[in-house]
Amino acid sequence: MDAPRPPFAPMRAGGAPGRRLAALRHPHLNRVALIFAPAALAGLGLGAWIAEGDVVTALAAFAYGLLWWSLIEYLLHRHLLHWAPAGPRGRAIRRLLPGHLGHHAQPQDPDEVVSRKHLFALPLGLLALAGMRAVGFSWGWSVAALGGGAMGYALYEYLHFACHQLPMASRLGRRLTRHHAIHHFRDETVNFGVTSPLWDHVFGTVWRGPR
Ligand SMILES: [Zn+2]
Ligand SMILES: [Zn+2]
Repeated sequence: MDAPRPPFAPMRAGGAPGRRLAALRHPHLNRVALIFAPAALAGLGLGAWIAEGDVVTALAAFAYGLLWWSLIEYLLHRHLLHWAPAGPRGRAIRRLLPGHLGHHAQPQDPDEVVSRKHLFALPLGLLALAGMRAVGFSWGWSVAALGGGAMGYALYEYLHFACHQLPMASRLGRRLTRHHAIHHFRDETVNFGVTSPLWDHVFGTVWRGPR
C-alpha cells in the first residue's frame, strides 16, 4: 500500500493583499496574459463587429465560450494531462502535448504549474470553430465564443497558479484551493476541475472521502 500522502500544508492560505498580487507574477503567466487576453478581447470585438454591433449577443457567446472552456479543461485534465503511455510511440506523442506529471511530482514548483505549449490552443480553437459552424452558429457568435474560450484558458492558468502559489484569502479562493489540493494530495483520480468543480459533480468524479 502507498504511504499516506501529506495533507494540504503545501497549499498556502491567508496573506496580505499586496503579497497576494506579488505572488501572481511569473514569466509563464505573463506569456499567457500577453497571448490570450488580447485574443479574448479580439474575439469579443470581432464577434460583435461581425454581428453588426450586437454586443449583447457577442457577450452571450463570450459567456458560452467560457462555459465550454470549463468542460474542455475538465476533459483535457482527466483524459489527456494524466495520460502516461508505456510504449515508445505513445511517449513520443505524449512529449508533444502539454505536460502535467512534472507538476504533480513538484506541486509547489512555480515553474511547473503553467503550460508552455500554447500552440496546442490553435487546433483546439479551429476544431471548436468548425464544430460551432457545423451545428449552425453564426460567424459572429462563433468568433465571440472563441474569445470566451481564450479568456477561460487564461483564467484557468491564473487560478491554477493561484491555488498553488497565492495565499488565498477569499472563501471562494479557499474552496477552489481545497478542491484542487484533494486532487494533488489525496486522490489524483478525482477533482479534475480547477476553475470550478461543476463538471466533477456532473461526471461523478468529485471527492467523496473525509474532508
Ligand atoms: Zn492533475
Ligand atoms: Zn495543480
